[in-house]
Amino acid sequence: MQDEILILGGGVAGCAASIALARKGRVVRLIERETAPRHKVCGEFLSGEALEDLHALGIDVASLGAVPIDYVRLAAARRAAQAPLPFPAASLTRKALDTALLAEATAAGVHIEQGRSVRSLSRTTDNLWQATLDDGTVRQAPTAFLATGKHDLRGHSRPKDSEQWVAFKMYYRLAPSQSADLADASELMLFPGGYGGIQPVEDGVANLCWVVKGRYLASAGNRPEKLLEKMQQDCPHLDMRLKGAEALLAKPIAITHIPYGFVRRTTEEGLYCIGDQAAVIPSFTGDGISIALHTARCAASAYLLGESAPVFQAKLRTAMLPQMRLAEFAANGLNNSLARAVLPFCLRVWPGVMRVTARLTRVTQPATMAPQPVIN
Ligand SMILES: Cc1cc2nc3c(=O)[nH]c(=O)nc-3n(C[C@H](O)[C@H](O)[C@H](O)COP(=O)(O)OP(=O)(O)OC[C@H]3O[C@@H](n4cnc5c(N)ncnc54)[C@H](O)[C@@H]3O)c2cc1C
Repeated sequence: MQDEILILGGGVAGCAASIALARKGRVVRLIERETAPRHKVCGEFLSGEALEDLHALGIDVASLGAVPIDYVRLAAARRAAQAPLPFPAASLTRKALDTALLAEATAAGVHIEQGRSVRSLSRTTDNLWQATLDDGTVRQAPTAFLATGKHDLRGHSRPKDSEQWVAFKMYYRLAPSQSADLADASELMLFPGGYGGIQPVEDGVANLCWVVKGRYLASAGNRPEKLLEKMQQDCPHLDMRLKGAEALLAKPIAITHIPYGFVRRTTEEGLYCIGDQAAVIPSFTGDGISIALHTARCAASAYLLGESAPVFQAKLRTAMLPQMRLAEFAANGLNNSLARAVLPFCLRVWPGVMRVTARLTRVTQPATMAPQPVIN
C-alpha cells in the first residue's frame, strides 16, 4: 500500500505535522502504536509558544480544562522563591492533549492507524520509505516523518544518554491547603540527584514529575517509593506539598535513557525528523511540547516548499543549538550544590533572574524559519 506521506508516531509532533499536511491536501497516513492516548511521563506545562501553535491547529486548551499558570516557584533546601512568568502558560494532561490532537488529525482527513507499532523503517530500492509493522505488513511512501518521541526505531537510534536519567510521573489529589497554596504556580524543586516539578492540571489534580540520575535512584534501592521518601527528605518543600496527598495512580509511571541535549545533525533524503526525534531539551524548561509543535510546523512547511529533508534538518539544528546549549548549561547549574543553596535566595532578592532564565531557555521561532500566521 503506498501513501504520499507516512507519519510514524501520533504524539504531539506527529499529529501536528499530519494536521498541517492534510490541511494542504496531502494524503497522509499516521501510525501510532497505542490504541488510545494514555498517561505519558511529562510535566504537562504548556508554554506561550506551545499555546500559540495549538491555537493555530484549532485546539482550544481552555475548553479542555487547561489550568492557567501565572507563576514559577523555585524551591531548594529550605528556601523557596517565586516570580511571575513572562509569558502566558497553562497545564493540561497529555491524555487530554493527545486525544484532542488525534481528533483534529482525523477531522483534517489523516488516515490514522492506532494500535499498530512500527518495527522498522527502511529505504526500498525505488527510494520509498517502508515501515514494517508489528504484524509484518508494510506501508510505503516517498516521504516519512519520524515522530516516535522517546522511542528509537532500529537503524535510526539517537546516541545513548551517558548520565542515565530516569524520569517519573505521578498524579496526586493534594490536601486542600496545599492545593490552594500551589494555586496557579508551576513549582520547580531541586535536590542532589535531580529535580522535580509540581503543578495543577485539570479536575483539581496535581502532576508531580521528577527526573533523577541513575545513581540517585540506585541510592534509593531502585525503588520509586523509596526514591520519593528520599526526595522529600532532601527537599522539605516537596515534603510539605505531599502532606496528606492522595496518589491517584497505582504507581508512578517511568521512562529511562532520555538523551537530554540531543540535536539531530543530519537525516536521509525524504525523512524529516521532528519532536524528540529532532531535539531533546532538559525537562525543567517545560519546552518539549513547544519544540515538538515548532519542529512539526517547520518540517511540514519545508516539505510543502520542496526543501529537502537533509537541508531542513541542518537548518533546524543551527537555529536550535544556542538555546539547547543554554538550557543544558542551566540544567547542569541546577545540579550544582552551591547553585542549589543560593538560587532561591538570589531569586527572592532579584526575581528578574527567573524571568530572564525562562526567556533565554525557550526555543523561540528561529529567524531562518518564518512562523505560519496564527489562525483565529
Ligand atoms: C520528565 C519529563 C518532563 C517533561 N515535562 C514537559 C513539560 O512540562 N512541558 C513540555 O512542553 N514538555 C515536557 N517534556 C517533554 C515532552 O514530553 C516531549 O518533548 C514531547 O512529548 C515530545 O513530543 P513527540 O511528539 O516528539 O513525542 P511523544 O509525544 O512522546 O509522541 C511519540 C508517539 O510515538 C509513538 N510511538 C513510539 N514508538 C512507536 C512505534 N514504534 N510505532 C508507532 N508509534 C510509536 C508513541 O506511542 C507516542 O504516542 C517532558 C519530558 C520529560 C521526560
